[in-house]
Amino acid sequence: MAVRAIRCGTLFDGTGSPPRRDAVVTVTDGRVTGVSTAVPAGAETLDLGDRFVMPGLIDCHSHASIVPGEGDQLGQLCRGPVPQALAATRNLRTDLAAGTTTMRIMGEEHFVDVEVREAIEAGVITGPRLLVAGRGLAANNGHGRALTSYDGVDDVRRGARENLRRGANHVKIFVTGGVSSPGTTPTSSAYTREEIRAAVEEADRVGSYAAAHAHGGPGLRLAVQEGVGTIEHGALATDEDIALMIERRVWLICTFGIFLHPRGIERGDGQRPAIMDKLHWTRRVVAENFPRHLASGVRFACGTDAVHGALPFELQTLVRLGVSSHDALLAGTRWGAEACRVDREVGTLEPGKRADLIAIDGDPLKDIAAMDRVSLVMKDGVTYDGVFGREQR
Ligand SMILES: [Zn+2]
Repeated sequence: MAVRAIRCGTLFDGTGSPPRRDAVVTVTDGRVTGVSTAVPAGAETLDLGDRFVMPGLIDCHSHASIVPGEGDQLGQLCRGPVPQALAATRNLRTDLAAGTTTMRIMGEEHFVDVEVREAIEAGVITGPRLLVAGRGLAANNGHGRALTSYDGVDDVRRGARENLRRGANHVKIFVTGGVSSPGTTPTSSAYTREEIRAAVEEADRVGSYAAAHAHGGPGLRLAVQEGVGTIEHGALATDEDIALMIERRVWLICTFGIFLHPRGIERGDGQRPAIMDKLHWTRRVVAENFPRHLASGVRFACGTDAVHGALPFELQTLVRLGVSSHDALLAGTRWGAEACRVDREVGTLEPGKRADLIAIDGDPLKDIAAMDRVSLVMKDGVTYDGVFGREQR
């Protein structure tokens, strides 16, 4: 088996140990086989001696087919499977180019995410490794409701089971209202305790977990009490909500870009007053509360929520809200892997892990803005040179 040696100017391996100068990562058959300071005899060398090398980024919350900047996200989800698959093909390439090598998809129609995951694995298209939910479980009158809805305990169970049968990795349930849909309130709960419990039970039974879209209010607390693994967004969470999440060891998946990035909700739905009022409210609460939440000890990781290519923006926002650059890099790598329960495979550069890494021009530990300068992406030991279309960045 061919051994490849990657010479790194600085190596941040994601384990929490300090960055190392002039380290050598060896890769065989798509896996990391060693981290040392010497190139083994006979190894083919990839010289990244002038760059900062770290594990590939993990986007814990996205949607393959949607572009929020095009507006009416639920309308986009209601298109047929072919436009969805074509959009996903374009979007996921953008994500890979920005450094995302693993991505969790949080709801698609037509099981497009399952098909796209398989197309990537088969090498038909280029994109991050996907973890998929299939259809998001949404109530008929709830946020996230596109073509299908699930109402009542039995229906939620049926939906969860259908997703799992089709190959979903986890179960996504839209518990509270949202920001980008005109008729829902981000703190009101569309689902009852019993319905949420049904989704959690079905996921648990197959060794997986449920992820809940929840901004705040009673719905967020119900989801945490009933045992979901991750709270998605949590934009309006109170200190009491966060304390409960810490107690139950529930992950907070931050999605700042959808609210704050110029390519987020504002570009797509800037003309809809019902949405913009909610967006401005959310921005105020996030700016006020998140510096405290992120310092509270709650476990957190990041997602772009389909602002494709903008995972670096998430890490930069963490730093702006008071997180150290070291912890921001961990949030984008190892912590994301733990939140998505794939930390045995990815998230750090250690022997046995998949050879997923990125090279950066500059040092993001000194200046997090350097995260915008990803100049090489490797996934499963394969380098992607042709994916750097920067027009979306
Ligand atoms: Zn989402």
